[in-house]
Amino acid sequence: MNIHEYQAKNILEKFGVPTPNSDVASTAGEAKEIADRFGGRVVVKAQVHAGGRGKAGGVRLVNSAKQAGQVAEELIGTRLITNQTGPNGVPVEKVMIAEALDIKDELYLSIVIDGDIGAPVVMASSEGGVDIEEVAATTPEKIFRAIGDPLIGLSPYHARDLAIALKVPDESLRATTKLIIDLYRVFIENDCSLVEVNPLVVTNDNAVIALDAKINLEDDALFRHQELASLIDLNQLDPLEQRAY
Ligand code: ADP
Ligand code: MG
Repeated sequence: MNIHEYQAKNILEKFGVPTPNSDVASTAGEAKEIADRFGGRVVVKAQVHAGGRGKAGGVRLVNSAKQAGQVAEELIGTRLITNQTGPNGVPVEKVMIAEALDIKDELYLSIVIDGDIGAPVVMASSEGGVDIEEVAATTPEKIFRAIGDPLIGLSPYHARDLAIALKVPDESLRATTKLIIDLYRVFIENDCSLVEVNPLVVTNDNAVIALDAKINLEDDALFRHQELASLIDLNQLDPLEQRAY
């Protein structure tokens, strides 16, 4: 089961992973009010079960609360078509308003189950951002992998190796190592099938922050997580998928 970015972000925060200040809005008025609270310079992000939003106009940087309201008005009630949706796109019913960060570097971090090994694998790349698919296709050697032990977990030295592979500044190494360990706990303790942070960013003052968050939950384990099961958004699914839930 897929969940929205704002829901994934709540989970990350619970586990201590830093994310930008943000709030979610269902109307342009709410969006404006939230943007105002954050000082006006914000990013308006369509909440849909698909990536590729940036390139499709679903992530927009604005400089005032008024503009945030206008962009929210444009997005809410439409369907967003990205390279990860079908030609009909997916409905935008909510937008997330996030504080705009001053980004120095965009990195990539994700965790999936490697079916062949039968264990979680953590992937890290210093070449994160909207073109990670191209990195994977053309220069796969730029993606560093570490395997978690299903019983013991992810060892601290693996987490540190991953942080080094991300090429974060020295002063951010410790915080990045902790972030990776916390993200691994998100994956294990919520029975995820995917946790992806793209981009993980280094800000101008060397803070390391999860700017985007994607979580897929393992359907077969949802009975263990009643509170997560309720995060389902049937409107994001096509009719066939809706019938399956
Ligand atoms: P998607 O992966 O669906 O395209 P992202 O959340 O990754 O959406 O956003 C796309 C891009 O927009 C990011 O790579 C980043 O450059 C920019 N961006 C997103 N959120 C912020 C933010 N809070 N502050 C500054 N830039 C942002
Ligand atoms: Mg992204």
